[in-house]
Amino acid sequence: MPTKKSPKITIIGGGILGLTLAYLLAKQQYNVRIIEKNKDLGGLASAFAISDEYLERYYHHFFKSDKHLQGLLSELGIADLIEWLPSKMGLYDGQRFYPFSHALDILKFPALNIIDRLRLGLISFFLQKKKPDPNFSKITALEWCNKYYGRNVTTKIWEPLLKSKFEDYYDKVSMDWFHIRIHDRSSSRTLPFKDETLGYIKGSFNTLINKLEDKLNELKVEIFKESYVENYSYVKNKHLIKMAGKHKKSLESNIVVANIPPQLFNSIFKPARSYSQKLNNIKFLAAYCFVLELDMPLSKYYWTSVNDPKAPFVALVEHTNLVSSTNFKGSSIIYLGKYTNSNSKLFNMEESQLFDVCLNYLKKIYPDLKPENIKSRYLFRAPQAQHIVTSNYSVLSYETGRKGLLYAHFSQIYPHDRGTNYAIAQAYELFNLISSRKWN
Ligand SMILES: Cc1cc2nc3c(=O)[nH]c(=O)nc-3n(C[C@H](O)[C@H](O)[C@H](O)COP(=O)(O)OP(=O)(O)OC[C@H]3O[C@@H](n4cnc5c(N)ncnc54)[C@H](O)[C@@H]3O)c2cc1C
Repeated sequence: MPTKKSPKITIIGGGILGLTLAYLLAKQQYNVRIIEKNKDLGGLASAFAISDEYLERYYHHFFKSDKHLQGLLSELGIADLIEWLPSKMGLYDGQRFYPFSHALDILKFPALNIIDRLRLGLISFFLQKKKPDPNFSKITALEWCNKYYGRNVTTKIWEPLLKSKFEDYYDKVSMDWFHIRIHDRSSSRTLPFKDETLGYIKGSFNTLINKLEDKLNELKVEIFKESYVENYSYVKNKHLIKMAGKHKKSLESNIVVANIPPQLFNSIFKPARSYSQKLNNIKFLAAYCFVLELDMPLSKYYWTSVNDPKAPFVALVEHTNLVSSTNFKGSSIIYLGKYTNSNSKLFNMEESQLFDVCLNYLKKIYPDLKPENIKSRYLFRAPQAQHIVTSNYSVLSYETGRKGLLYAHFSQIYPHDRGTNYAIAQAYELFNLISSRKWN
């Protein structure tokens, strides 16, 4: 339990990073509180109730290489709730659907000639096995793909995928990001001709979030939900926070760890110019995600990449082809997700209008689908869902230049793609940083 002498630590943000860090610190007798603006904890990995089950607002799974996540689940005594599930992948290019699960599908892929198919398979295999390469941070994925996969493969496969995921930034994304993404993914495939096996937690990420919350309650961590920082000042080595929202309170801290978007951090904490400028340089895309509950399955595929930049969604995820539909009283659960600029027309559309746009496109792929098959639908929007890892990306330190003010955000994850595994890795790094120094 915290003692009077323990440094007081305020964590802003009750996502996976904030919750894990609070747990690690509170276990070592630090005096910890969390401020979370939403009603639910878990941030981007949070879940909602649907058909008597919990489901992530945005599709979530994990890979065999996600060791920090698996380690945390073991530490919390819930590793037995991990399920490793086979999953089938598909690709829709705006005209046709292709199976795209494993090497055999690539060898049969009709949109490329046999030389290009072999090239696609061999170069991808090379990237899966290749160790991180410092030269990859200096060039863009598009440049590298054009050179090694060749123009044909790049135009048919990688360029539309990069455009779908990064819109106007598609030609700025670093080769490092692309390489590590392919490398990490391959950990979930035992043989080139077998389907990928993905990890999922029984009951969704909500199981982990609830377990962390229970532990935090046991460790007497105060969690202020539906609250936010209204005012901040730094006086005599103390960080003073005035909270607003559900909990109107003033908190004095030796350490503040802020896990909030960069621009918000700048406006509240006003760090030194050198730090705030770097934060302002990070570019983000927003994401929206429709969750549809259907009375029939659409396909046998878990994940379909929609490789058509004109499509209103890039990921068509049939969740109930990963986990059983019996979890959802027999309903099929579909996600339709897209990354886009936060001021784009699609991101700002009214729900019903966006739904019509998405449904019209979905019917292009599955013409038998009728509006009556949709039992319920939910729309979630995140204004800053993905940072753009450009070539020569500079990763910001946790230390902001002001003693005890630490900034922690998924945009500091490099070169891996942001994800729950790396949010947990960040929490361990921050714990090591905090516990290695004296702060009060
Ligand atoms: C579409 C999509 C799909 C994804 N799929 C996967 C996947 O398959 N596998 C995977 O591992 N990861 C996936 N991720 C990524 C993963 O969800 C995130 O990387 C991870 O959850 C980030 O955790 P975090 O705690 O760092 O940040 P966040 O989840 O962003 O948490 C930050 C918290 O801070 C709170 N907050 C913000 N502002 C304030 C404020 N002013 N005051 C108080 N609180 C505030 C937020 O409400 C939030 O709870 C996906 C993300 C998206 C968007």
